[in-house]
Order: sequence, then C-alpha cells, then structure tokens
Amino acid sequence: MPHHFETLAIHAGQEPDPTTGAVMTPIYQTSTFVQSGVGEHKGYEYARTGNPTRTALEACLAALEGAPFGLAFASGMAAIDTLCKLLNPGDHVLASNDVYGGTFRLFDKQYKKYGIEFSYAELTDLQAVREGLRPNTRWVWIETPTNPRLKVVDIHAVAEIAHAHNPRIRVVVDNTFATPYLQQPLTLGADVVIHSTTKYLGGHSDVVGGALVTRDEAMHEQLKFLQNAAGAVPGPLDCFLVLRGIKTLPVRMERHGENALAVAQFLADHPKVAEVIYPGLDTHPQHAVAKRQMRNGGGMISFFIRGDAAATRALVARTKLFALAESLGGVESLIELPAAMTHGSTQGSPLEVAPGLIRLSVGLENKQDLMDDLAQALAEV
Ligand SMILES: *Cc1c(COP(=O)(O)O)cnc(C)c1O
Repeated sequence: MPHHFETLAIHAGQEPDPTTGAVMTPIYQTSTFVQSGVGEHKGYEYARTGNPTRTALEACLAALEGAPFGLAFASGMAAIDTLCKLLNPGDHVLASNDVYGGTFRLFDKQYKKYGIEFSYAELTDLQAVREGLRPNTRWVWIETPTNPRLKVVDIHAVAEIAHAHNPRIRVVVDNTFATPYLQQPLTLGADVVIHSTTKYLGGHSDVVGGALVTRDEAMHEQLKFLQNAAGAVPGPLDCFLVLRGIKTLPVRMERHGENALAVAQFLADHPKVAEVIYPGLDTHPQHAVAKRQMRNGGGMISFFIRGDAAATRALVARTKLFALAESLGGVESLIELPAAMTHGSTQGSPLEVAPGLIRLSVGLENKQDLMDDLAQALAEV
C-alpha cells in the first residue's frame, strides 16, 4: 500500500545502513569509489556523478512530489540554471510577472543573450495566459505563491491551457514557497518542479540546495546528463541536512500556516497597516484557488504600512524576534524589504517590486510572541 506523505517524509529513499545498522543515512564524505576490476563497482564511481547520500535525497524528493525522478543541486539557482540549459535559441518562455529576483536575473542577464525569449504575464489571469502563448513557446514558468507578492496561480488551469495550445509545452512550477506538503504541482498537471531546498525543505537556515523533480523520463535523462556534465551538485553533508529537515516538513508546515494566519489577521486589524497579502485570508484575490490547491496559506506574508519609506525602513529594523535578513522557510521568523534586498535585480524592470512592500517569513516561535513583536515595532513608527 502506498504510504502517506508524513511517512514518505521520514522514510522515502532511506533504509538503515546495511553494513552497520545506522538508522540515519550516512554522510558519504568521499569523492571516489573503489572498483574491483575496470568498470566493476557497486553503482558509484565518482561523486560528481553520484553519491549515496545524494541518491537518498533524490529518491525522497521524488517521492514527496509523487514522481519517479528527482535530482539534487548545489542551490535552487543551480537547479534552475541546469533546467535552462535545455532551452535552444529561438525558444520562448512565458513566465509569471512576479518571480524570484534571482530567476529573473538569470533569464534576463544570461539566457536572453543566447537568443531565448522571455516574456512575463499575469498568470493569475487565464486570458493573459492564452494571449501570452506563442508558436515557439517551450515552457510556461509558474511560481505560486509568488515571491514576494504572494499571487496564487491556478496550476491545473494554466497547465490545461498550455497543453491544449501545444502538447509539447512543459509547465514548470517553482514550488519553493508551498513545498510538496502544501501542494503537488505534478499531480495538478505540471511537468517539472523546482525547489530551493535552502528554504522550507531544509527548514533550519543551515544549508543551501536545490532540486528538480519530473515524471518525464526523457527530460530526466537530459537533466541527469547536465547534472554530471556541469557538476553543480550538493555535497553529502548538505544532502544529509536537507534529508533531516524533510523529516519534520509536515509538522513544520502545519505550524507555519497556523502562525502565519494568526499574524496576518493581527496585521489586517492593525490601524497602522495599509494592506496585508496572505493567501489564507479571504481578502486575498485568489483565496478560492489557494483553498483548492493548497493545504493551508503557507508561512509567508507581505504587507504595507501606512507611512513613508523611512517609516518602512524603521519598522523592519525595530522588530526583535523577526530578524532582518534575506531567505525564508526556517524555524526562525525573518523580516525583509524585497525591493532593497532579495529583489534588487528587478528594479527598473517590469517586475519591479514596490519599495514599501515588507515580507515576513513566519517561523515556529509562539504566535503571541510574534504578534507582540510586530505590535511593539509598529507602535514606534
Ligand atoms: C530562494 C529561491 C530560489 C533560489 O534558490 P537558492 O537556493 O537561493 O539558489 C528560487 N526560487 C525561489 C522561489 C526562492 O525563494
């Protein structure tokens, strides 16, 4: 009988070590593997090509997304870069008009110069999806919820439109914000899933990593070739840390969602707050899609205060529990200003983030303590 998500998170790809009985997957800190004769080995030759700790992580990631194939990378951007190497000059990518700043930077500063076309559309509007598709469209690139505006894209509806336009289009979903616990894009009709495992999958702000998961065997073989040929692979300790983080993913995501909903409601009721964006609030424009597609609203909140740029900057420096830092998805709460920090590369582009937008990564601290911290910071601005 197939196991449930919580069981897969702890066991998929992992068995007690056959030689020692160690319950945790060993960190195979080795670059090479002995051969008993030329080409005679136990499945591993050189650690760029494969390492048993990485194999366990790759199998676990695939299982969590309900797919047969997973590959682990040195970072989320390394995963995205490897995927982009499948594009050819003349190909077109229709992307969400709100994507991670690093993704936009890689498209705009690197892959555009190879003759690949990128356009950015409001993918929450299905008419805009239809109008954005071109004869040479190869991929539709979805982030949902988006970073940092937390727009929710209907994966099933967009995949249907894209595949009806041309069955060869591949629908790519960056599932970093939701994680496979909250939503499984491949079961909704997408073709490839990307992760920055640096975020919720690792979950403890102590590792950088990425992943690509797909059901398409031919694509997987090409990606595996590139993983070995270009070599942006994670080390065994990093794989171990992500595997360990994943074991508690379901419980963490439940609490991230519970805490974030409480904080979002608190902010929505606060007189100094102008606007709160959180997919779990019924005021969110795509709340209905979020309810259908995700188990809860996730751990990320964006909001604007009533006040000028100076007040916004003062606020993010005055929280004590919410640390002012880039990144997200760890057990500890973080606060940041995307326009000046994570999304600096979008300034002056059509993806420019409003300077007053404040992004929270709501952690697993006591939710009352988190609300008290925001209350004291808001009281002073
Ligand atoms: C952080 C992030 C990335 C990039 O991942 P790294 O691990 O930092 O390279 C890509 N997509 C999203 C949505 C992210 O938040």
